[in-house]
Amino acid sequence: MADYETIIGLEVHVELKTNSKIFCPSTTEFGAGPNTHVCPVCLGLPGTLPVLNKKVLAYAIKAALALNCQIAEYSKFDRKNYYYPDLPKNYQISQYDLPIAEHGHLDIEVDGREKRIGITRLHMEEDAGKLVHQGNITTSPYSLVDYNRTGVPLIEIVSEPDMRSPEEARAYLDKLKAIIAYTGVSDCKMEEGSLRCDANISVRPRGTKEFGTKSEIKNMNSFRALQRALAYEVERQIAVLEDGGRIVQETRTWDEARGETRSMRSKEEAHDYRYFPEPDLVPLVIDRQWVEEIRATLPELPDQRRQRYMRLYDLPSYDAAVLTSSLEMAEYYEACVAMYPNAKAVSNWMMGDLSRLLNAANMDITACRVRPDNLTGMLKLIDQGTISGKIAKTVFEEMFNTGKDAAQVVKEKGLVQISDAGAITAVIDQVLAGNPKVVEDYRAGKDKALGFLVGQVMKTTRGKANPELVNKLLREKLQA
Ligand SMILES: [Zn+2]
Repeated sequence: MADYETIIGLEVHVELKTNSKIFCPSTTEFGAGPNTHVCPVCLGLPGTLPVLNKKVLAYAIKAALALNCQIAEYSKFDRKNYYYPDLPKNYQISQYDLPIAEHGHLDIEVDGREKRIGITRLHMEEDAGKLVHQGNITTSPYSLVDYNRTGVPLIEIVSEPDMRSPEEARAYLDKLKAIIAYTGVSDCKMEEGSLRCDANISVRPRGTKEFGTKSEIKNMNSFRALQRALAYEVERQIAVLEDGGRIVQETRTWDEARGETRSMRSKEEAHDYRYFPEPDLVPLVIDRQWVEEIRATLPELPDQRRQRYMRLYDLPSYDAAVLTSSLEMAEYYEACVAMYPNAKAVSNWMMGDLSRLLNAANMDITACRVRPDNLTGMLKLIDQGTISGKIAKTVFEEMFNTGKDAAQVVKEKGLVQISDAGAITAVIDQVLAGNPKVVEDYRAGKDKALGFLVGQVMKTTRGKANPELVNKLLREKLQA
């Protein structure tokens, strides 16, 4: 089989967190009853006129600056025409040839290698409504339409075809999400649809310059789905080419349940959107002074924060990257470090047990019942010798499941570490008496035998004996 290179570009839609919609005063709030957040403008009733929400423009510029884009001096809106019931006007107000921002980039790291991914453009547009089917679209006897989402402000961010693997695409989306979330212009929740991603993907024999024919993949509703869908598509395209076939340009949808992409429509069926300038909105002339004012409101972004953690807390690059991968994670970390100075210990617990339990529960850190003061409280109990590092793992899991603090868990479960030499010696005597052969081995020079005896003492005390003290007392006994 020939060696192939994968080419991926992403188109990401992000809902902006404004109070009202892009061209009318209707609220953008999520989760209300169908068609309750609408007005004549977003319903597209004849005679109504759109008025641009200034905050949408400010947020789009802020996101664009965070992505190192150049802000246009002159920009305009256009009509993208297509007929579909989720679009009451039969056109979407978007931006075509003069977007608000272009020529940006962000940096990703995959397998320890840094790479810069170009951002072609960022533009503003209105969201469409939502069709609600009974079951699925092909078998549903009817469909309902909800216009609450119609007119919610979006920015679309189009990358250059710079990614060379599904892992790089995933890293790009992770980073993009982190940067946008840090700026505060969107909550970027993929599961609520406030961040959506389509991918263009093609393969070509390694060493060739021309791009292969691409397919566009839609309906990837999670970071995991993105990576799986792209990995599937790479294999599918290579298999077609190896079979002597050719790739047809088409739009494909990701079927999460079956784990495959399926053809939706070919290039021949693609829409001709007949873009033309939106006559009801004036073009935008962007004041440079205003752009600089917005730039001044940019917060510390993920890369800068990561550098600060490496410098200030002496963390390895990888740990600092994970801890700054979301604003919530970073703020949790800093809240802990403010209460407890051993920054490396906090990092280890967050990267280890906390992340493991969050992943297993498919939970976001904002929903975590272990608050920063609970975690640092537990670390203090370890330092004081009240619990061992090993027992702390049990304590932490209980804290995670119940929301109780460490001291309470330790008390209720009787997990206080035994540091009383008398009590430990009594157990040691019992263990030595029960294992004369092992004692003999140790005295004959088999150092490994000590580990077994320590293990027996720990087992008898159900892990509660202070391990350092057990080691010390055992050695003394055996040398006597
Ligand atoms: Zn409205």
